[in-house]
Amino acid sequence: MKKNYEFWFIVGSQFLYGPEVLETVEARAREMAAELSKALPYPLVFKTTGVTCEGIAQAVREANYADDCAGIVTWCHTFSPSKMWINGLSALQKPWCHLATQYNREIPNDEIDMDFMNLNQAAHGDREHGFIGARLRAPRKIIAGHWQDERVRQRLAGWMKAAVGAAVSRSMKVMRFGDNMREVAVTEGDKVQAQIQLGWQVNTWAVGDLVQEMSAVTEAEIDALMAEYLARYDVHTDNTAAIRYQAREEIAIRKMLDREGCLAFSNTFQDLYGMEQLPGLASQHLMAQGYGYGGEGDWKVAALTAILKAMGEGGNGASAFMEDYTYHLVEGQEYSLGAHMLEVCPSLAAEGVRPRIETHHLGIGMNEKDPARLVFEGKAGPALVASLVDMGARFRLIVQDIEAVKPILPMPNLPVARVMWRALPDLTTGLECWITAGGAHHTVLSYDVRPEQLRDWARMMDIEFVHITAETRPEKLEEELLVKDLIWKLKK
Ligand code: MN
Repeated sequence: MKKNYEFWFIVGSQFLYGPEVLETVEARAREMAAELSKALPYPLVFKTTGVTCEGIAQAVREANYADDCAGIVTWCHTFSPSKMWINGLSALQKPWCHLATQYNREIPNDEIDMDFMNLNQAAHGDREHGFIGARLRAPRKIIAGHWQDERVRQRLAGWMKAAVGAAVSRSMKVMRFGDNMREVAVTEGDKVQAQIQLGWQVNTWAVGDLVQEMSAVTEAEIDALMAEYLARYDVHTDNTAAIRYQAREEIAIRKMLDREGCLAFSNTFQDLYGMEQLPGLASQHLMAQGYGYGGEGDWKVAALTAILKAMGEGGNGASAFMEDYTYHLVEGQEYSLGAHMLEVCPSLAAEGVRPRIETHHLGIGMNEKDPARLVFEGKAGPALVASLVDMGARFRLIVQDIEAVKPILPMPNLPVARVMWRALPDLTTGLECWITAGGAHHTVLSYDVRPEQLRDWARMMDIEFVHITAETRPEKLEEELLVKDLIWKLKK
């Protein structure tokens, strides 16, 4: 799924200091790009030294049209007068990171003279550069620090993945099987606005088309996928026919997704006409391969799942469709139990644990037969949950920090995969904050996408961002949301 994205390094300077300085600037910029590329998830490619308005505008135009270019990184080695940058930055359509760094780490006590000062004046140049970003009200990420520092590299790596999330978003296609679950509000949304704002093409295909596709799947294709299931999962059922039926569903769904270029899909238990089982194992194994999924017609969470997966490690991280199901409210042991009726991605499974394939009766929906599904426990560790809601005329991305734990109960009769976590600042305060912000029961739970990346992504997509952390208090959040509501009404 991972495309060969790259980022362009455009370094600011000017003619004032003579050709030798410009040669040094370019040589160092090339060296920095090459060195940084070794530590970053995507290559940073030196593009040009910006010394004229025309040259910078040309580089930006090329970045806008280059499919592989997921964003630009700028830095001013010397002073670089910012009027030269106005035309280019005004036309920029890709994510922008201003890396406020410096080639040398130390001020060299003996060597420093006015030539050194003129060559190494990022402290000066990056402020001029920062002003024009602020003056243009341009959405940008600012990362300050020495380019060889681990923390700087990690933040730049995180921003790059967020920018890839923006690129994936702008090319996102979602396949809907069936409509939104009857009467449900939070999973609804304006699909036209989603395409304008986020680039998502959200369209519907008939369940009958899928049933027809399923009927064309061969036994040989099913055998091949069954071998893959057996290699990755333990079978805890005698009902091989149910597993083979899920394989048939997965193959058919995947063929339709790939044919249409869709990276995410939604379905609903209310519309399984002609199908024996709600896709459980099928959806789970598709998610493990990087496809996004949303239950009950929730196309927003389906697309968001695919985007967070693409932002994760190796272009397919530990991010998954999740649902807040029920609470453990014992004092000192306050946890949420997350699951879904079937569809939890095995990328959340605890390390070294092989998910079990089981078949159980599913009372909800139109299942004629017991669906096969993967059952496992989610892993422990810091994570987040993210929910995208349609506030009318704008989208709001709500992110909450959570601490996932090994489930404190074995729950032997629970026939689905489960994750247990403590919301921050604590379950009940966090819940009050979540409800205040209007967050959904459906979320994307991620162990490897960090809140800073989702803040970056929201800035790139120009949508509202709300972050519930260990410090958030409901009364402050209420004020924040009131202010943001006014700002966004003025903005749009
Ligand atoms: Mn649900």
